[in-house]
Parts: sequence; structure tokens; C-alpha cells
Amino acid sequence: MKIIRSIREMESYSRRARRKKQKIGFVPTMGAFHEGHLSLMRAAKKESDIVIVSVFVNQLQFSPNEDFDKYPRGIKRDTKLAEEAGVSILFAPGADEMYPENFSTIVEVEARCARGLCAGRRVGHFKGVTTVLAKLFNICRPNTVYLGQKDAQQAVIVKKMVRDLNVPVTIRVMRIVREKDGLAMSSRNAYLPPEERIQAAALYGALKEARKIIDAGENRAVRVKSNIEQILKKEEKFKIEYIEIVNGETLESVERVESNTLIAIAVFVGETRLIDNISVSATNGKP
Ligand code: AMP
Repeated sequence: MKIIRSIREMESYSRRARRKKQKIGFVPTMGAFHEGHLSLMRAAKKESDIVIVSVFVNQLQFSPNEDFDKYPRGIKRDTKLAEEAGVSILFAPGADEMYPENFSTIVEVEARCARGLCAGRRVGHFKGVTTVLAKLFNICRPNTVYLGQKDAQQAVIVKKMVRDLNVPVTIRVMRIVREKDGLAMSSRNAYLPPEERIQAAALYGALKEARKIIDAGENRAVRVKSNIEQILKKEEKFKIEYIEIVNGETLESVERVESNTLIAIAVFVGETRLIDNISVSATNGKP
């Protein structure tokens, strides 16, 4: 595996690969790898000739009161894990090169999908994401980009950007990888002290309960929401940010669970903000 830090070198590498008709799979990340990241790399490896993984903690997507400074970083460990996953190139550009002093262009999706859920609380977050991804797509020139369903809203917004701007890439969204107790893997889980880490499993517990009552025939969003709320409220360290039941494609709120419905939640567990989601479909009581 090769580590590339310069944008120029990355550009010429991908240009050469494309000329040779090699298929490039790309996994954008902020590092601090866990099995979620590695699952994307393995999927890319299966379907591509070359796998590029970027590691860039993108300041543009953090607001001033967020955890940019303390975000976990560890390029040595990441290098080892990426190499074991069969990655060809680890692209780790410097912030000065990505955002030089005269940088002044923002890519922002203005659709409904970029308004609710996390966008309502993390102002400016998604335009930071789409701007850095637009740059990374141009630099790495992937055929296919691998994203995690863990960040469901991000995946919907990136797909919209790609469609609207005719970016010549295919977006693949891969399933959420979870810890044994169901907690969705996240670099931010490392912030949780032991007691909060134990409580954090209740996020997925609440989502699973929601699926259970939907499978038993409940399709009213308010009922499903209040069921989730009751479960989350039992955890002393939880502060609920949102519980949303939305269409999985448009992210618009729905009153009833339909065929492609997403239940998304964001909760502060102590100081740590965690998100999770599941896709559900109405069964109308039929198994
Ligand atoms: P991040 O480093 O947090 O920006 O994440 C990089 C990519 O990994 C994003 O596409 C995430 O959605 C994805 N990802 C993060 N956690 C998980 C997980 N638990 N399962 C699957 N994909 C994940």
C-alpha cells in the first residue's frame, strides 16, 4: 500500500489508473478506523482494481462548538488496518493543501433532504461534507464510492449532489456494522466512559423495539416515535436530540410507516452525540 499526501501526486496516480482502464473504488473517511470503515474497504476491494481510501478530518464540516480538535487521529494504526484490508492507496492530504488561503467555493445541496434531521442541528455540516467530497471525487476520480448507511442523511445528500452535478460516479451505500451489543460502530464511541458505553446500546435497542411493533402491525409514526422515546428516556445519561420517521429517499416526514421508511435518531449520551437508524416497511400486521 502506498501513502500519498500530495493532491498532485494523487491526481496523476488516478489519471494513470483511469487511462489503463482500471476500476477505482473510493472510500472517503476521517480516519480512526473501525470495522464499519473496514467493511467499506473490503466491499470496494471486491469490486475494483484499485482501492483508494482518504483520511482527512475535514474542518469545514465541524462547527466551532464541535469536537474537531479532539477528534480521534491515528495514522499509524489506520495505515496498518488499511493495508490488511487490501487498500492500494491511503490518501491523507494536509488541510493547507485542501483549503489554501484563497479557497472560496462551497458545494451545497439545497433539497429538502439537506434540511431536517442532523442538518437542522449541525448547521453548515453537510455543505462541509459535500464540498470536501466534490474535491475528493475530482482528485481521486473514482468509478464507485462506498458510503455507510450509518450516516443515512449524508448518503442521501451525496447521491443528490452526484445526480444534480452529473458527477460520473456510482454511489454504493453499505449496511451498518454494529458492536456485539448492537451499538453502531463510530469513531466517537471512543469518547464514551464505561457507564455511558453500556447505556449507549439502548439506541439500537429502541430501534429494534420499533421494528417489532411495526412488524406487529403498528404503522402510525406518532405511536412508533413515542415508543422509542419511552425507551430512550429510561437511560439516565441520554438527552434526545431527535427521533424522526421519514421517507428513506426524500427524508420527508411520514405520518405512517410505508414501504421505504427510515427511522433515524440522534441522542447525546453524556457529552457524546450518537446517531443511528433502521429501515422499516409497513407490514399491515402480516408477517
Ligand atoms: P467517517 O470516518 O465517520 O467520516 O466515516 C467514513 C465512512 O464510514 C462514512 O461513509 C460512514 O457512513 C461509514 N461508516 C461509519 N460508521 C459505520 C458503520 N458502523 N457501519 C458502516 N459504515 C460506517
